Amino acid sequence: MELPDRCAEPSRSLGLDEALARILGSLAPVAGIERVSLEQAPGRVLAEDVFAPFDLPPFPNSAMDGYALRHRDIEAYAEAGLEVVGTSFAGRPYTGSVETGQCVRIFTGAAMPDGADTVVMQENVLRDGGRIRLTRPPGLRANVRPAGDEIRGGERLLEQGRRLQAADLGVLASAGFGAVPAMRRLRVAFFSTGDELRPVGETLGLGQIHDSNRHTLHGLLQSPAIEAIDLGLVRDDPVELRRVLLDASARADAIITSGGVSVGDADFVTGALAELGRVGFWKVAVKPGKPFAFGRIGPSWLFGLPGNPVAVMVIFLQLVRPALLRLMGAETRPALRLTALCRSDLKKSPGRMEFQRGLFASDGSGGLEVAGLAAQGSHQLLGLCRANCFIVLPEDNAGVRAGDSVVIEPFVDGF
Ligand code: AMP
Ligand code: MG
Repeated sequence: MELPDRCAEPSRSLGLDEALARILGSLAPVAGIERVSLEQAPGRVLAEDVFAPFDLPPFPNSAMDGYALRHRDIEAYAEAGLEVVGTSFAGRPYTGSVETGQCVRIFTGAAMPDGADTVVMQENVLRDGGRIRLTRPPGLRANVRPAGDEIRGGERLLEQGRRLQAADLGVLASAGFGAVPAMRRLRVAFFSTGDELRPVGETLGLGQIHDSNRHTLHGLLQSPAIEAIDLGLVRDDPVELRRVLLDASARADAIITSGGVSVGDADFVTGALAELGRVGFWKVAVKPGKPFAFGRIGPSWLFGLPGNPVAVMVIFLQLVRPALLRLMGAETRPALRLTALCRSDLKKSPGRMEFQRGLFASDGSGGLEVAGLAAQGSHQLLGLCRANCFIVLPEDNAGVRAGDSVVIEPFVDGF
């Protein structure tokens, strides 16, 4: 593992992509697989490929309510009509076979009777007692769902690393799986540091603020694939910090801290980290964000976030979330980025990549438009509540004029 050392590279800034590549390059999924029932499976990470044990659908069946018939009979019996010899219900098939000049009443999902190859929908027939005549003849094999037209037995149904979504659960059930192998839940401990912080519920003295980052992190860590361990609020005290970090490393695969990673005098986290493990202190060329610590304490990976509330969100989403996905054995995909027309001027100086907070919407003619929010301070968390996307401005950007195109990254719900 390559961890840039603060002393060795005091002035060097890492680009976001480089920082992410270094982090992902260091991490491997945690070990541990458990079987979970489908009821427990939503949001869990599939630990192995799953293969279809049989064809889906398992038998040819009708896509419509109508009549199953032999396509070659249509012309010959156009005048006389076809004789209705029985009914195939979903779950209660017609057991006979359809002979020349015959058809079978059939409902959606019912098995195709032997001999029939085509279904005419009921809207396209005239029924007269026991016979039907077709008002609109269907094409050969119309309205029939062949066996295996979704997937063949033996083919891969779902891939290892997939985070199971609602449709996946339905697919697994169709294939008869009541349980699946899932990666064990990732244990993530988190805490805040800072002498100025008080937990909610306590009265604030002069110079004090409530600890908000811990609650933001708690929200960010909501995932069925994560066991979040809230270690509370830690004072800027080296002894206490050491104790909490050791406790965290005994209990968690990953530790997330907020505050105290800049090089200021009162920042104790850096000192405690350097003593306890192999930790790199990075200047990531991102605004908001910048100071960031990454490394290892005992068996756990450590992610030291800056204290500013907006920086916590930005760095978590850009660097920590992909890292946690990697640790939990999940597939990692780059965030969706789109182009939008910017409706407002945006202030920016070249040097650092910026994640400004924006509100995007359809422009009414197939494109997207976005406006920057007024509150862009890294302490102004409310700006993030009001936004629905980041406006991602590259390092060399020197400001945006209304009418320019910009790149946006829409917020996604959940982990
Ligand atoms: P630090 O990174 O510790 O220097 O903190 C940077 C800024 O973020 C300071 O204004 C802190 O008061 C603020 N801050 C740090 N931790 C938290 C927290 N848990 N909740 C809210 N604000 C915080
Ligand atoms: Mg602090």
